[in-house]
Amino acid sequence: MSSKKGKKKSSDEEKKEEFIRIDGRKPDEMRPYKIRAHILRNADGSAEIRLGGNWIIAAVYGPKEHFPKFEISQDKAILNCRYHMTPYSTTERKSPKPSRREIELSKVIKNALEQAVVLEEFPEMSIDVYMEVAQAEGSTRVASVTAAAVALADAGIPMRDLVVGCSAGKVNGHIILDVGEEEDKEGEADLPIAIMPNLRKVVLLQMDGKLTHEEFKEAFDLALKGAMELYEEQVRALTSILKDMEVIEEGVKDEKE
Ligand code: ADP
Repeated sequence: MSSKKGKKKSSDEEKKEEFIRIDGRKPDEMRPYKIRAHILRNADGSAEIRLGGNWIIAAVYGPKEHFPKFEISQDKAILNCRYHMTPYSTTERKSPKPSRREIELSKVIKNALEQAVVLEEFPEMSIDVYMEVAQAEGSTRVASVTAAAVALADAGIPMRDLVVGCSAGKVNGHIILDVGEEEDKEGEADLPIAIMPNLRKVVLLQMDGKLTHEEFKEAFDLALKGAMELYEEQVRALTSILKDMEVIEEGVKDEKE
């Protein structure tokens, strides 16, 4: 019987394994990441994500009465999304004014989150989602959507599923996971995606550059794998605030006794 273990690696597989990226990562390796939920005192829900050098804070306000009144929707809430990069988020100082890129990304993120939030529960109201990029290092749109979904859940807003994003790309002919800033600039392609992980639905998919059909499939599968890894971290962040709350409630009970 032939054993897979003993099978000799093809030169393609060997080449893939040998490729070391600009920051020392393997092709299918994510940057280190951490998500924290419930970090802001004055927002209804909040979260932060650190993904390599990215540091993004998401805050949610609402559901609340919508103004101006002529804009209200009778059958569902309006979801307002703002993705913004701070002037100090990049090496070159960026204008604080929203750029065309930020306006477009806010719209793309709104499209993604709208599919998950149960907006029909809040007619005539609105929900505001702010994503503030404090530090940028590539793939900020998918990191922002990932943090925003945790902030929405932290605000107690009913959702069909969480939303989690990750990117893949192509650099020097190699398909890579979680595209960093240099790789975004130097690489041949960039494929950011976001999904609803339990419903298995794609809610954001963009592509910059060129990929063959096979490369697209490989990159998509890799981004999916990264997204599922980050989904575990979203769940961990949300369950850890629940645990913290239990500890606080226990403390209050003990004080009363
Ligand atoms: P994403 O952040 O989703 O990958 P882009 O592909 O547009 O979006 O940007 C890639 C990276 O380039 C960003 O994450 C950031 O690190 C950097 N970047 C974007 N806009 C600017 C800017 N105005 N000035 C300097 N760096 C920028």
